[in-house]
Amino acid sequence: MQTVGKMMQRPLLVSAILEHGAYQFGKQEVVSRETHGTLHRYTFSDMASRAKQLANALKDLGLQPGSVVGSIAWNNYRHLETYYGVSGGGMVMHTCNPRLHPDQLAFIINHAQDEVVFFDSSFAPLVKAVAAHCKLVKYWICLSDKANMPSIDGVELVCYEDFIAPFPSHYEWPDLDENSGAALCYTSGTTGNPKGVMYSHRAIALSALSACLPNVLNISSQETVLPVVPMFHINAWCLPYACLIGGAKLVLPGPKLDGASLYELMESEQVTLSAGVPTIWMGLIQHLEQNQLSFTTMRRTGVGGSAMPKALIAKFNEVYNVDVRHGWGMTETTAVATISNISAEEMTLPESLRHDLVAKQGKSVFGIELKIVDEDGNTLARDGQSQGELMVRGQWIVENYHKADTQALVNGWFPTGDIATIRPDGVMQIRDRTKDVIKSGGEWISSIELENAAAAHPQVAMAAVIGIKHPKWDERPLLLIVRRQADFTDKQELLTFLEQRVAKWWIPDEVVFVDSLPVGGTGKVQKNELRAQYGGIFSA
Ligand code: ADP
Repeated sequence: MQTVGKMMQRPLLVSAILEHGAYQFGKQEVVSRETHGTLHRYTFSDMASRAKQLANALKDLGLQPGSVVGSIAWNNYRHLETYYGVSGGGMVMHTCNPRLHPDQLAFIINHAQDEVVFFDSSFAPLVKAVAAHCKLVKYWICLSDKANMPSIDGVELVCYEDFIAPFPSHYEWPDLDENSGAALCYTSGTTGNPKGVMYSHRAIALSALSACLPNVLNISSQETVLPVVPMFHINAWCLPYACLIGGAKLVLPGPKLDGASLYELMESEQVTLSAGVPTIWMGLIQHLEQNQLSFTTMRRTGVGGSAMPKALIAKFNEVYNVDVRHGWGMTETTAVATISNISAEEMTLPESLRHDLVAKQGKSVFGIELKIVDEDGNTLARDGQSQGELMVRGQWIVENYHKADTQALVNGWFPTGDIATIRPDGVMQIRDRTKDVIKSGGEWISSIELENAAAAHPQVAMAAVIGIKHPKWDERPLLLIVRRQADFTDKQELLTFLEQRVAKWWIPDEVVFVDSLPVGGTGKVQKNELRAQYGGIFSA
């Protein structure tokens, strides 16, 4: 018979994260760049007081445990207060991606049954577009003071500062079940309607704790963290929670995420650690290069959401002395599930080999298990060669989608839709998404690997590869390039460059120079848009 452990059953709660941050690191700062450009500055302890005022105000509205509260907002201090005030009070924080099509935005607000929606004033036009279709929303609350309130014809708005002002800054957080829902985030819905993932308090607390580990992001009170990843994208990878656990200064960038704005904030606030998708870092590096700048304090960055090209990893590391942590995760995994890290032994490898390692998506963090399977569900070897669908399970992996009547899991594992290899030492590499991989003459071509190879060419600022229907080969790769200089027109030079790096039959059939690539709300290249635009290029 098993012995029962005799330890306390204290729940892991979002409110406990706030209390810890406020008690242990009360003077630590939250700096927030507002939509109009001004910097707002206060402490963890101020933030906790206002989150409690908000919890009181929401209770006064009659919201119940489990009520859903939406947000359409950038990374800023009032949005942070809603994270804690809503979830801490037992309600569910539903962060909405403002870049969704208004029809999809209305869909998720209705599907989640949001009763209140907080929004930044800059999203007033979006609220105007969706409000009439969101009949369950009783209050639209603008994250603003009175002086900066917008007005929207036909929609009654509440001013956030007026809303919380009458209420006290003490609040008895409810002793919730750690498995109750704390936050809700929808997938981006590139294939059908978005699907909701309801994160429990427990999942958030464990994932945020894990982000603080040295081998993950190493978040401590010695760090100043700038989450570029939006707070509407998988809870900004749990950084708004992790910084209060670790005691790190938090710098919230607001809407301006171009290279110049980010660099200025990193320098003025002495940021040491940042996190975001590769497209953001491409913009930042271009700004540094064009203006011959360097970082004073930045020493580490977490990158994920799509593959980080080796060329960019090398630049960050060798030229700018920034350590890149390349992670993999998805809405369904709460935040980071795997991350690249370099052991003491691997530190002795030549730089290029180390960058090769970081360009892979790394090892699973404690709590997460991985396997790869073939089309029949058979587990494949962890030999670094066999590739199959990546399956994941763990304490902060989705079990079922919100209100879905179909099962999300296959024999207890979540099928990710990503194709990967796993080496004997546990290092995982994403080869492609099932929907992006190119099937040519019965064989697979990895769009990610081709993009990474192209990104190493000095004239390439950004690269995307898509599979295009081909009369003979089923599909063939098309390479789209954003150039560094418009007078570079030598497609053949690019193809020759690729021939030295990938198999000959992988070489794209065509190269198209474009001014920009379509990037979605979470900073990823929208390949479905590219496929719609260029899909007929080989059959024309
Ligand atoms: P979506 O991209 O559909 O908006 P998510 O933000 O949940 O939804 O993205 C999850 C997907 O992003 C993963 O399934 C994977 O395809 C991709 N992804 C995430 N991190 C990486 C990475 N480091 N390298 C390659 N692909 C990644």
